[in-house]
Amino acid sequence: MKIGFIGLGNMGAPMAANLAKAGHEVAGFDPVAPMPEGVRKAKTAAEAAMGAGAVITMLPDGAILHRVAAEVIPAMPPGAVFCDCSTVDVESARAVAARAVAAGLGALDAPVSGGIGGAEAGTLTFMVGGDDAAFAGVKPLFDIMGQKAVHCGASGAGQAAKICNNMILGVTMIATCEAFALADRLGLDRQKLFDVVSTSSGYSWVMNAYCPAPGVGPKSPADTGYKPGFAAELMLKDLNLSQQAAQMADADTPMGQLAAELYRRLVEEEGGRGMDFSVMLPRFEKRRRSRTG
Ligand code: NAD
Repeated sequence: MKIGFIGLGNMGAPMAANLAKAGHEVAGFDPVAPMPEGVRKAKTAAEAAMGAGAVITMLPDGAILHRVAAEVIPAMPPGAVFCDCSTVDVESARAVAARAVAAGLGALDAPVSGGIGGAEAGTLTFMVGGDDAAFAGVKPLFDIMGQKAVHCGASGAGQAAKICNNMILGVTMIATCEAFALADRLGLDRQKLFDVVSTSSGYSWVMNAYCPAPGVGPKSPADTGYKPGFAAELMLKDLNLSQQAAQMADADTPMGQLAAELYRRLVEEEGGRGMDFSVMLPRFEKRRRSRTG
């Protein structure tokens, strides 16, 4: 298939390289990033989209997605699929999809989990919103870039799944870190807490697979000075998107709201930027009980 790939940063570059390696003809556009191996450099986003059966975007946010979509959609041939893999707000995902459909195209929002490692290894999970025909058309590409693609529903459902998952992840990380900090103050050995919780009802992916305590559990960013991994500012981005969506949908999400505020402080005021999101544990270690909440 001829594929246009727009946004060749940390995630987009290895995803595009995997499509090229699998034999697809990939034209790429990014204003700054270099072209990965096997990807032809287009001069503009519109040029990358010309004649393509699918255009994939992997961009920083919804505002940039709107701009790129406005340029690319008119250049795409009828029947092609516009597939956005970025993590953006649900409203932008729906608006861009509506614009593509109005232009006679298929449209998918297909954010991913699995991080840079998953993008390189071709083991991402895609959470996909859009109609059946568009999903079926792009499924072979998801199978190259990832190990699983879940069709979650209509436009926006992929982004909804992504931010709900990451809201659970952020809240669970905070709960796990504050439990370790409490255990410290109670004189309970961290390894013993892990041994109990990892096989008890408090277990989670955070505790069992990504333990924020150094030297405890399987190897994780905590063991390498909290080098990401999944950076705290990306967690903050996703938590903010969850709160934007909750506001739009009038949903009560007190834990998500507090998690967004704690990650905001961690990133903006407490030196967490550029560190793994599990660096929440040393934050709690240093703190005493707040009397003001
Ligand atoms: P990145 O900043 O490394 O890459 C984004 C790329 O988009 C950059 O190369 C930038 O030059 C390019 N870009 C910006 N404006 C553009 C334009 N107008 N036209 C074309 N290209 C443009 O970010 P990333 O880590 O690759 O993340 C991309 C998306 O994937 C984000 O939405 C992020 O939230 C999501 N995501 C990232 C991870 C991760 O671990 N990095 C995991 C899951 C999802």
